[in-house]
Amino acid sequence: MLLELEFSFNNPLTVETKYIFVTGGVVSSLGKGIISSSLANLLIARGFKVTIQKFDPYINIDPGTLNPYEHGECYVTVDGHEADLDLGHYERFTNIQTTRANNVTTGRIYQSVIDKERQGVYLGKTVQIIPHITDEIKRNVKALGNTGKFDFVITEIGGTVGDIESLPFLEAVRQLRWELGMNALCVHLTYVPYLHAAKELKTKPTQHSVKKLQEVGIQPDILVLRTEKDIPVNMRRKIAQFCNVSPDAVFQSVDLPSIYRVPIAMHQQHLDECVLRKMGMPVEGEPHMEPWCKFLERMESATKTITIGLVGKYVELQDAYKSINEALFQSATYNDCRLNLVSIHSEKINDENVDELLKEMDGVIVAPGFGSRGIEGKFVALKWCREHDIPTFGICLGMQCMVIEYARNVMGLTLANSTEMDPNTPDNVIDLMEEQKSVTDKGGTMRLGAYECQLTPESTVAKAYGKTIVSERHRHRFEFNDSYREDFEQAGMKCVGTNPQTQLVEVVEIPGKRWYVGTQYHPEYSSTVLSPNPIFLSFFRAAIEYHDTQK
Ligand code: GLN
Repeated sequence: MLLELEFSFNNPLTVETKYIFVTGGVVSSLGKGIISSSLANLLIARGFKVTIQKFDPYINIDPGTLNPYEHGECYVTVDGHEADLDLGHYERFTNIQTTRANNVTTGRIYQSVIDKERQGVYLGKTVQIIPHITDEIKRNVKALGNTGKFDFVITEIGGTVGDIESLPFLEAVRQLRWELGMNALCVHLTYVPYLHAAKELKTKPTQHSVKKLQEVGIQPDILVLRTEKDIPVNMRRKIAQFCNVSPDAVFQSVDLPSIYRVPIAMHQQHLDECVLRKMGMPVEGEPHMEPWCKFLERMESATKTITIGLVGKYVELQDAYKSINEALFQSATYNDCRLNLVSIHSEKINDENVDELLKEMDGVIVAPGFGSRGIEGKFVALKWCREHDIPTFGICLGMQCMVIEYARNVMGLTLANSTEMDPNTPDNVIDLMEEQKSVTDKGGTMRLGAYECQLTPESTVAKAYGKTIVSERHRHRFEFNDSYREDFEQAGMKCVGTNPQTQLVEVVEIPGKRWYVGTQYHPEYSSTVLSPNPIFLSFFRAAIEYHDTQK
């Protein structure tokens, strides 16, 4: 038995699944997702298999129906789940794909319990929050662990301790901690504000937040303190003492210039070692951080600045195009450049100001989106980019706009449009997909998730990927209208990527241009720190080349 145990401890691949819960207190937006991702990153660098899941306390079944003003970007997993943007962080930090099981909302928990009640699963019992809702939460927490694929399952509980809607999740965590013993651990993230008037850091909100957690029966094992300023050791000791946490389990997470520095900052304070020790696991050697550190080195030593304009209607929101921003940042780093990302509001571009707004750009991305707000500005921007031959990348709605702009201004189809914007257009170059015509429900009903795409050899995209079959993620209802394909090809816009099963057009490009490509899919979702997306890399290289010709 002892030998077996020793073997399992020495071989990370055979350990029993461990569960780490990450909760947050004081205020929202502290970066639980970044802390969870950083911890996962460190454990992976130690050879463990790790996954992260997020529980969101809102009642929507998934964030697919949410306006970006509510929760920022909607991320999409390979299996077609519309997910919280934190899953994007998880993938970018861990280089491991997530699925539907990695993001569960209160709505989904209730839906499942109510479905079971209708099926008679509860055998005449009164269905209640405890035990039925909490059991359903626990089942979902363990679902990933039970696959046998992971040594660690990190579960981030959305919201802030003290919210009414988080209570069932916290109760499930409390129960799991008892059931799992040493195999469960709670990391609590709080905020230590600096009061500029008093010139002091304040620990009281953290104490209150931990008390709130204790009131629902959870004693945190580890505290991570978010702060603008360095928290002195004696203050951290005081927090440890007031919160019943060992002094070596209080960490600080000071604001850093890049989120990708957080794993290193956590490792320097031995967060990974603390987690292993507390879970009864041996702490051996150092995590293998070389590739990550190499990325950081390149990020920090880059000197050349490349300016990319992002044209969209949500540009004033920091998180609305999160994955695009990060994919661009990664491609800048891998090209040893700094990214100067300029947000350009599509509602504010017109023929008069387009020159002024775009003339400094080394490349332009036209963003995805829904509905007609800001659409005409996208056409103006695309016409200018095409005529000035600057590297241009259209993503999803951005690609559809490329097609419409080309039809109107090159092919003479002046009223061409997408039926999303004008159902009566005489030239519906973008039209509703056949399988969408009978769809009335809004949630989870688009063409979602990863599909294969066959690329034309020698096209810009095929050269970028270095292969002709790729798989990328989708989120749309409308498509390139195949009956116009010949006309576009003859007029010079080529369809260079198609779905091998359905023949749907997935990629268009204008071959004579420097770099003018539109993808119906979203390559930004698959771009990670250690595996940047090839098409973003290629676009960025084109932007550098264009920048160099401007000198
Ligand atoms: N609104 C377009 C469609 O549904 C594009 C969607 C998007 O950009 N994600 O097809």
